[in-house]
Amino acid sequence: TYVVTDACIRCKYMDCVEVCPVDCFYEGENMLVINPSECIDCGVCEPECPAEAILPDTENGLEKWLEVNRTYSEQW
Ligand code: SF4
Repeated sequence: TYVVTDACIRCKYMDCVEVCPVDCFYEGENMLVINPSECIDCGVCEPECPAEAILPDTENGLEKWLEVNRTYSEQW
């Protein structure tokens, strides 16, 4: 899955939301989040993000952000 990180805070450009084929972006408190159970790992959102806030969860140190994405996307 891909995760949205803190570079998104107060950004919300929404370019990523428009390209996601499965609509798995959700509004968090002050940033967007990706629902990890819905993301199909296609990667098209990553280059669309002007803040470079979207990263694959295979990168180191993203456990905390994965948790944030899961928590905020599943409250809907
Ligand atoms: Fe959506 Fe693909 Fe980005 Fe996952 S990787 S959030 S499916 S655009």
